[in-house]
Amino acid sequence: MSEQRSDDVALTAEQCRPTGLDIEMARQVLRITWADGVTHDYPAAFLRRHCPCAACRTEYEEQSRTLLPVLSPSQTTPVMVTGGHLVGNYALQLEWSDGHATGIYDFRLLRRLAADLPRTGG
Ligand SMILES: [Zn+2]
Repeated sequence: MSEQRSDDVALTAEQCRPTGLDIEMARQVLRITWADGVTHDYPAAFLRRHCPCAACRTEYEEQSRTLLPVLSPSQTTPVMVTGGHLVGNYALQLEWSDGHATGIYDFRLLRRLAADLPRTGG
């Protein structure tokens, strides 16, 4: 099962430069407004699922090899975003309610992830 992806389409510097960054704790949504005028809302659960850190990538790969997947606590209990801060001027580091904070989401990654955002209809 492979799907055609357009991930490697070159993104301009503008498209990967946020002009607004807001973590809405109550809604558990990260809202990014990009320099080209587009706004995206990233649900916390979506971001956690796409955590780019080595530990999460390994966990994900191990689960996909398991015939009878065992849910880890982070999957049965929703993990909340508790904070975040900029890393240099190229990335956002998010902190989670389970203490996880090694995921560094660079803005190019976030802009690419926008294509995978769940549609909320409307
Ligand atoms: Zn992670």
